[in-house]
Amino acid sequence: MVKKIKAVIFDFDGTIADTLPFTFEKIVQLSKKYRIKKEKDELIEKISQLSPQKLMKEFKISWFKVPFILWEIKQSQKALFKEIDKIKIFPGIKKLLKELKKKGIKIYIYSSNLKKNIVKFLEKEKISQYFENVYVGGNLLGKDKDLINILKKERLKNDEVYYVADEIRDVLACQKAKIKMIGVLWGVAGERGLTKIKVDYLVKKPEEILKLV
Ligand SMILES: [Mg+2]
Repeated sequence: MVKKIKAVIFDFDGTIADTLPFTFEKIVQLSKKYRIKKEKDELIEKISQLSPQKLMKEFKISWFKVPFILWEIKQSQKALFKEIDKIKIFPGIKKLLKELKKKGIKIYIYSSNLKKNIVKFLEKEKISQYFENVYVGGNLLGKDKDLINILKKERLKNDEVYYVADEIRDVLACQKAKIKMIGVLWGVAGERGLTKIKVDYLVKKPEEILKLV
């Protein structure tokens, strides 16, 4: 028996906002800086299809380098602020938000991007009014703990929510947190990445989410 869904939590990058061209460009710049000898296509393929642990192995990144990488990611998120006006919303998202709201479902964002980037984007797209709250977490590899905390704070149970996201690490976090995830095919991991890791639901278009609530 499926419980009634009370809330949908959205990821930001690759789910609501098409920050992918910006991110891929940054990845290419970083690979040059760190002398990772891989072509752009191969780099993006690996980054989108491997879990964080496998990625570290693939690129021979040791644990002590992780703080540097996280620092680089923060720097590129800071740089994104000035580019927000150029970032597009994925087609169908606005309509989906409107319909979810109409159904009385609470809508949240949980992302590892910077809050000011997200707020600026929501204002630009005039969609701030749909969201109850925007949560951000600095811990890129610990999304499960953040998700559990959000549920506690919002007095929601695991089986009353979906997390909508696009990456393999999102699926891993949801499995750990025991939250059902809707994987979107328009983001980073795509069908291959998300099928491999057995995400609960897969959607090709935002409107398909309405059938799941
Ligand atoms: Mg994402």
